[in-house]
Amino acid sequence: MMSDLGTKVTILEALPKILPGLDKDVTQVVLKSFKQRGIDVRAGVAVTGHTPNKKGGGTTVQFGDGESIEVDLVVLSVGRRPYSESLGLDGAKSGVVVSDKGFVEVDERCRTGEQGVYAIGDLIATPQLAHVGFAEGILVIKDILGEDPVPVDYGKVPWCIYCQPEVAFAGHSEESAKEAGFDVLTSKHRYIGNGRALIVGEADGLVKIIAEKDPKTGTGGRILGVHMVGPWVTEQLGQGYLAVNWEATVDEVAHFIQPHPTMSELFGESVLAMTGRSLHG
Ligand SMILES: Cc1cc2nc3c(=O)[nH]c(=O)nc-3n(C[C@H](O)[C@H](O)[C@H](O)COP(=O)(O)OP(=O)(O)OC[C@H]3O[C@@H](n4cnc5c(N)ncnc54)[C@H](O)[C@@H]3O)c2cc1C
Repeated sequence: MMSDLGTKVTILEALPKILPGLDKDVTQVVLKSFKQRGIDVRAGVAVTGHTPNKKGGGTTVQFGDGESIEVDLVVLSVGRRPYSESLGLDGAKSGVVVSDKGFVEVDERCRTGEQGVYAIGDLIATPQLAHVGFAEGILVIKDILGEDPVPVDYGKVPWCIYCQPEVAFAGHSEESAKEAGFDVLTSKHRYIGNGRALIVGEADGLVKIIAEKDPKTGTGGRILGVHMVGPWVTEQLGQGYLAVNWEATVDEVAHFIQPHPTMSELFGESVLAMTGRSLHG
């Protein structure tokens, strides 16, 4: 966003690549777009310190192997930790256990070791997302009401990254599905072939479906992950999220009609291609 407003942006990331955990095809689209817009992405470089400039404000940031860069502002985004120590839990004579990293330990229903005491949201070691905290709150209320609720499936929650182009996903990436031992089939379709994306002039991006390969037919079986990058994909993830969490198969989802012209057609087309009957290859 800052780059689009005219600011020269440099991203310094200590890990070997930015956006760790994303499917590699999705990361490539983001990286390409960042490069085209003049954003300098430096991965594999740890920031070691900074020296405020004596004149004119700003600071000089030191990083990597003796490199430095002079900047007006630094935006620090290296994750968060809970302020559990401020709750007075440490040493309390209760079953509430706080981990070394400050997270309150809970079971799958967010119950601490103390009867009637629950912890949810950023206070526990689950994805630090507003909607996950919300789901945990609902789970707790149901548990208090004795409704035997289904725990949150943390491996399949929806993730949205509001960069430009947007990123949205649920479930396995191709890499994580393979690591988990699945025989994987993937299908990728780009927004450049989608009429609505062309109409709105934002055709950069793709939809990628990761499914189990059906050993009998060689076509797609259960949908394991839906990963998207492109225009308004945070608004399009919904049906992918449902497919992954409903453990729907490719055949089941491919049966449904997508309205035309919409960007959501790309999801339908990507799934359809995995039946062996692709529309556009
Ligand atoms: C910059 C930023 C952007 C984000 N963007 C997104 C996003 O786009 N989508 C998304 O899903 N998530 C996003 N998140 C994460 C999301 O905000 C959190 O996951 C969510 O707010 C966690 O909810 P929570 O109720 O656990 O904690 P919080 O929302 O932090 O609420 C905890 C509350 O407890 C209060 N509190 C703390 N200590 C005490 C105390 N001792 N006594 C009384 N009150 C106390 C705090 O003041 C606070 O109001 C973002 C987070 C940040 C920081």
